[in-house]
This record gives sequence, structure tokens and C-alpha cells, in this order.
Amino acid sequence: MPGPDDLPPLTEEEQLRYGRHLILPEVGEEGQRRLKQARVLLVGAGGLGSPAALYLAAAGVGHLGLVDFDEVDRSNLQRQVLHGTRDVGRLKVDSARDRLADLNPNVHLEPWPVRLDRHNALELVRAHDLVVDGTDNFATRYLVNDACVLAGRPNVYASIFRFEGQASIFAAPGGPCYRCLHPEPPPPGLVPSCAEGGVLGVLPGLLGVIQATEVIKLLLGLGEPLVGRLLLVDALAMRFQSLKLRRDPACPACGTRTLRELPDYEAFCAGPAAADPGEVAEYTPRELAARLAAGAPLALVDVRERPEWAVVRLPGARLAPLSELDQHLAGLPRDRDLVLYCKVGQRSAAAAQILRAAGFTRVWNLAGGLARWIAEFGPPPA
Ligand SMILES: [Zn+2]
Repeated sequence: MPGPDDLPPLTEEEQLRYGRHLILPEVGEEGQRRLKQARVLLVGAGGLGSPAALYLAAAGVGHLGLVDFDEVDRSNLQRQVLHGTRDVGRLKVDSARDRLADLNPNVHLEPWPVRLDRHNALELVRAHDLVVDGTDNFATRYLVNDACVLAGRPNVYASIFRFEGQASIFAAPGGPCYRCLHPEPPPPGLVPSCAEGGVLGVLPGLLGVIQATEVIKLLLGLGEPLVGRLLLVDALAMRFQSLKLRRDPACPACGTRTLRELPDYEAFCAGPAAADPGEVAEYTPRELAARLAAGAPLALVDVRERPEWAVVRLPGARLAPLSELDQHLAGLPRDRDLVLYCKVGQRSAAAAQILRAAGFTRVWNLAGGLARWIAEFGPPPA
């Protein structure tokens, strides 16, 4: 945090405008100047982004970056209160800029009428102090998460569906990230979107205001932020619950940090091709490398014998030699895809059949084994 001397001063107009903040000892003039100094990136100017942007602008956050490539549609107005009827057909970032500038002309607004993607996300995230995730799809949610982890910026997250919502802060120092909670996206088509399943219009308002509250607390260093907690909101029962979230040491983003650049999220969320029942599915080395680079939570299992393992192996693999496979069954995870490999893919195919017979359903074989991997990528690092 910058010291008080580095913070921008408040104008007379701002002194008047923020009077109710200034008399709060926990905010005061120094806190208000911290807000003025802050740069917040809002991803999505929709249901969550609307209340978040309105309250952050009203609160005097000095710089708001708004990313949204979409246009205002009449069916948005039931919940996206940033936009008005006369804005239908306009870019959401343009409509948002006009409304926010009217609410608080002291705020510097930067509209980004682009789709956040793996090529622009890191640069945008790095240019801000923290990010508000107001996205409505899994691909962008993983993208925002990973960019925040890589850039070291907190990700103030919320999501909504029908009458329920959830919120948390990911990628804060020491705290978990979205991948710790959801290592893998749900199979495509399993979870309906709000467009398909509907949403009570006031619900994103509730959750977006929670996001704005957490942003202001983080910027001011106040209270207990939602780091390591998942807040669950049930609007019908009007019940708020919070669950403890732990960091997953095996998380490719914030744990092992094997995720070093942003992968192809459309491919990641599309999932692997379905396996034929009765036959063991295979990855080519290239497919496996792509899944690993995308941060898919795979367990690599080397079924060769110990002397072979000692010479060379894939990074992150565990050893379960075919000759003693039955002793390793209990220790193998059942909640993620197991990818078996040996030297050329024959022993691992046999091992895969044994695992299938033992009730493992998520078993894959590396086609061509380590030999083909090395032919395509060279020897793995020792
Ligand atoms: Zn994580």
C-alpha cells in the first residue's frame, strides 16, 4: 500500500461529495484518497458489473476499467441497472461510461469494448490493482482467475443462477483460487446459463453489491475479506452461509504453479473426447501436453518398473509398477483423470484394463508411451 504522502489530494468538490465517508474514522481522508488512487478492472458490464460499477464509481474509486464487447439488449434491463431503455443497441461500455460519468465525474473511466481473451487478459489485469469478475461463462471465469493468479491481483468473484449466488475473493496472497474450488469445468451443457435457466433480476444486484463491498474493504485494508471463504446466498430462504475454502497444493495455478501461461480456455472447457465404454481411451503425447498446459487436473501414473523410473520419467508422475499394481490401487485418486504410461504404451494399456476392472472410470492411456513422448518433445527434464 502506498504511504499517505503518495496519495492524491481531494478537491473541495470531493470533500463535499464524500462527506459521509470522511466522517467514518475507518475511512477518513486518507482512506478516501486511497480509493481515489485505486485502479479496478470490471470484467463484464452486465448483471454483476452494473451494481459493482455504480457503487465503486459513487464511492470514488479513481480509475475503473470496463471490459465488455456486448451491446445492450432489451432483455438485459431486468437486472443490468447500469443501462437504460434508450441505450438498447449501444455498446455496454459506452452506456456504462455515460451513466458512471454522470454519477461521478471525478472517476476516470476506461472502456474496453473487447472480448477478454488469453492474449489481452494479463496486460489488462496487470494494469489494475484488482479485478471484479462479473462474467457469465466458465471459459472467461477460468481466464480471469488464471490471469489474476499470474499477475498477482485479487479476483473478487461472484456468480449467480436462478435464486442463488456465491461470492469469494480468489488469488489474494495466501488464499485459494477458483481452480482450487473447481479444478475442472463441468462437462459442456451440464450447467445451463442464466439465458437458459433464468435468474431473478435482483439477485445479481445483491451479489454485485457484495463484490463492491469486498473491493472497498480490500482497497482500504478493512475488516475480514472473503479470502478463503465461499459465501453462499439463497435468496428464496434469504439465507447466507459461508464455507471455508482451502488452497489446493496440487492446484496448477496457485499451488504447483505449473500453469505459467494462459491456455486455450475453449478447449479446456470443452473437455476431453468421451471414451468408448469397454475400450481404454488414449491421449497422444500432444493431446496430453495440451491438457497439462491447460491445467487439467490429471494424475500421471508411471507403470514401468523401478529401474526404468530411476532413469527418466514425466514431471509430476507417480510410480505404480504393473508388477505390484494391486498394492497401489488404494492410493490412486478417483476424482480425476488417471493417465497411465509405460515405455511404448502396452503395459499401460494392460494396467488400464486392471484399473477399469477395479472400478476406476477415469482411466486414459498415453499412446506410444514415453518413447513417443520423447520422440515428439525430447527427454523430460530430470
Ligand atoms: Zn488454486
